[in-house]
Amino acid sequence: MTHHRPGHDLPWTRVDDLYVDGRWVPSTGTARLPVIDPATEEEWGSVPDATPSDVDAAMEAADRAFREGPWPRLTPTQRAEHLLRMADELEKRAEPLGWTNTRENGSPVAETSGAAANAAGILRHVASLAPGLEREDVRAFPAGGAESVVRREPVGPCVLIAPWNFPINLMVVKLAPALLAGCTAVLKPAESTPLSIRFVVEAAEAAGVPAGVVNLVTGGGAVGEALVRHPLTAKIAFTGSTAVGRRIGAAAGELLRPVTLELGGKSSAVVLPDADLDAMAAVLIRSSMRNSGQTCYISTRILAPAERYDEVVEMVTRTVAAARLGDPFDDDTVVGPLATAAQRDVVTGFLESAREEGARVTTGGRAVPGTGYFVEPTVLADVTPDMRVAREEIFGPVVTVLRYEGVDEAVAIANDTPFGLGGLVFSTDPDAAQAVAERMDTGSVGLNFFASNHAAPFGGRHDSGLGVEYGPEGLAAYLTYKTIHRRTG
Ligand code: NAD
Repeated sequence: MTHHRPGHDLPWTRVDDLYVDGRWVPSTGTARLPVIDPATEEEWGSVPDATPSDVDAAMEAADRAFREGPWPRLTPTQRAEHLLRMADELEKRAEPLGWTNTRENGSPVAETSGAAANAAGILRHVASLAPGLEREDVRAFPAGGAESVVRREPVGPCVLIAPWNFPINLMVVKLAPALLAGCTAVLKPAESTPLSIRFVVEAAEAAGVPAGVVNLVTGGGAVGEALVRHPLTAKIAFTGSTAVGRRIGAAAGELLRPVTLELGGKSSAVVLPDADLDAMAAVLIRSSMRNSGQTCYISTRILAPAERYDEVVEMVTRTVAAARLGDPFDDDTVVGPLATAAQRDVVTGFLESAREEGARVTTGGRAVPGTGYFVEPTVLADVTPDMRVAREEIFGPVVTVLRYEGVDEAVAIANDTPFGLGGLVFSTDPDAAQAVAERMDTGSVGLNFFASNHAAPFGGRHDSGLGVEYGPEGLAAYLTYKTIHRRTG
């Protein structure tokens, strides 16, 4: 079923305000950024491009709420109660939130209809970590006679910067632990997805989160940079490209600010010789093309054993060719448009380079002529590890199939990239799959399935980033420690 394309019936389309100190306030400037529907190329919304004084106002509100407001002084359990209410409030807004998200970045409704529930799940999981934060941590001196109280305190006002591919999830995974820790925050969504995040702000307000704890500014890289370098910023959490991540990391190093960086990836799916290819076909679209291929930890390099290479290429080609490309508002659409014209051009550039370097297109291979930023779901066979399409992140509906001889070579190819984010192993032998997973130099690996777990750390090594999100490890990024020593009798 195709939903009627929402437009003026969505609560937010053309807005001129930012959320600062518990109120929607007009930007002090007049510059605006368009919001484009990538399926129709229609400019259906716009937001302010925040000015330096808007950035100052948001940071000052976050700083004041941190120094003087009630939030950091509530107990973790009291803050968790707010997070639980916020989860409920977010779920009440699931439909307009999902539709706004689909209109912003073209993610199919099959994906975005779950965005609010997913974010609510993160908020509830983070709330469940409150008892661990409540516990007083007292450690005896090894020599006796004294003890140390180890206090975990919120780090301060945080700048949270997200990309456009999962605008809700990638912001809430930062905001939820920041809030539980007792921090305040300024949110900076990507320029192409600045509207759906307003539902998160609204949910926080409805849940009774005090003024100044959550603030929202919209704008591009210059606004992000001003926030990162703002004197009142105590911590930065960023998800986005490796190039921008390096720049933010350099600023954080110079200013000695803690930073979490979740960056790009180029993950491999190692198909062991005993793999069940029908079972692999059942998860392949999600594991290699989720969100039209715009997912950082999908495994887009499929490593096939030489003796089953043709069989794997045939299965991957058949499965990808059957993935339905179309209107993201159609429930049956599996692959939608790319989020922006620029991203479409990046992907078609990779397809050209693949042909020039000798890869074989077995299905797809072109941008779809006409309106919308659509690229055909594509399989590239005969890809070798030195080709650009095997080394760089494509971020589109394109899968590569590489050949290996022996498991050592498979592991070597999997690890021969500058990145280290995700990965998969397909095998009917759980021990063999686990052994390969242990040799993969990445932050997470799935055995026969593609997943992430709110309770377990997620993060990348090398050019994929610094630090982790999710689980108690993700919460720790928003805490700082204070040790108080005292004599005991
Ligand atoms: P991007 O780096 O261009 O932008 C991300 C965000 O940073 C945007 O909000 C942007 O406005 C802001 N920004 C740009 N320049 C800045 C600067 N100098 N200082 C501060 N902020 C700045 O990334 P994108 O194109 O929006 O997102 C796609 C990338 O994100 C891909 O590389 C993808 O792999 C990565 N990603 C990583 C993860 C992960 O968890 N590891 C998840 C999703 C996406």
